[in-house]
Amino acid sequence: MIRIVLFVVLVGAVAALAVFVADEPGRVEIAWGDWLIETSPGALAAAVAAVAAVVALIWQVLRWLLRGPDNLARMRRLGRQRRGYRALTLGFVAAAAGDGHRARRLSRRANLLLEEPPLTLLLSAQAAQLEGDDDAAAEYFEAMLARPETEFLGLRGLLVHANRSGERERARDLAERAYRIRPEAAWVLTALLELRTRDGDFSGALKVLKEAERNDVVTADVGNRRRAALLVEAGRVARRTGDGRDAQRLASRAVDAAPGFVPGAIAAAETALAVGRNSAAAKIIERAWRHTPHPGLATAYRAAHEARDEVGQMKRLERLAALNPDHPESHLMLAAAALEVRLWGTARQHLVKAEGMQPGARTYRLLARLEEDEHGNTEAAHAWLIKASEAPSDPVWRCGQCGIQHASWSIACSSCGALDTLDWGAPVAGLEPPAEASKLDKSLGDSAIDSLSPDNSNEARTGA
Ligand SMILES: [Zn+2]
Repeated sequence: MIRIVLFVVLVGAVAALAVFVADEPGRVEIAWGDWLIETSPGALAAAVAAVAAVVALIWQVLRWLLRGPDNLARMRRLGRQRRGYRALTLGFVAAAAGDGHRARRLSRRANLLLEEPPLTLLLSAQAAQLEGDDDAAAEYFEAMLARPETEFLGLRGLLVHANRSGERERARDLAERAYRIRPEAAWVLTALLELRTRDGDFSGALKVLKEAERNDVVTADVGNRRRAALLVEAGRVARRTGDGRDAQRLASRAVDAAPGFVPGAIAAAETALAVGRNSAAAKIIERAWRHTPHPGLATAYRAAHEARDEVGQMKRLERLAALNPDHPESHLMLAAAALEVRLWGTARQHLVKAEGMQPGARTYRLLARLEEDEHGNTEAAHAWLIKASEAPSDPVWRCGQCGIQHASWSIACSSCGALDTLDWGAPVAGLEPPAEASKLDKSLGDSAIDSLSPDNSNEARTGA
């Protein structure tokens, strides 16, 4: 608005000046050598204005001519860029559609046309991956590491590559580097938790787990269970290095993290026993028995008061069983103990109850023993053993991922390498247990200390 007003005012002023000059009488004389120009002031003003206009026009033309090559180059560059971005877009579309060959061709084209390595590197890497050329993809990811804007992406690509080719040390380095850049990223936390665990860096893994929980990468339940598992393994390391007190502290923390996690309770009871804190061990087992009765717990409970007489021991076990009276494990524990002290009636009573709740091979084997020990009836014992062979198998530590049975619990499955997948339950039909598992079957888990020994866990871990 102001500009329009100014323009109108200016035009008015120029017109007024022109009228004033034209109306004013007067003459202008210009003498130059033999030349003499005589004219009116109005005509002179008009001539000056015309010359100025011509000069301005010539200047514009000259300027355009001088800048011509620049303009042309700019237009050409813009054209290249446009074609480059088009190739890039089409390349990403091809990559998304799984057409590696076309994606690679377009990535080369985009690479030639564009000077944007971060963008073309990603497409090139994706295209190479789609074509199955992992080494070429790794090279592109490696190139990404040199630029801050693509470093994180490059690390992810290289980590996948390292995992695929089994380079665990390299994978760990890459994950640690990514963790320093973005410690909250879900894939970084997941990868580092796994890699630190596999390397036996349990305290490092516990730190990452905390971070993963804070960033909702794992739920509270999964986090607590994993914490307990890591603490049990950390406690085993402490025990192996002779630090009994540290082992006990770590195992107690495992129980606090997941009270129903049997390996934690057994480890806590065993480490308490190892330093002579027998009543503390008994308390830990009683607490665990309420959640999840387990043969390993029963064994540790007996170890807590070995020196007592047989009747006293039986009474103690009855008190433990009373904490979870409707569980078949409670009846099986009492039946086995009664057989040892030749309380035939009590043994039979508990075996009948156990069979009614959950008929299994272990119940029938104990019935066979009862027939043989009480009456010397080998025929009846044989019949029970046949029944045992046909009955559902006893629970074992088995991997939820591959189904393989294990003689003892450990954080890594020695068969498939999965982490924290071992649970106590019915074995998977058709999957033979490894040779060491037969020990558990034979002993009915009567040696919790053996079955959870650090040596076993180490074997499982290194096999992962
Ligand atoms: Zn497995």
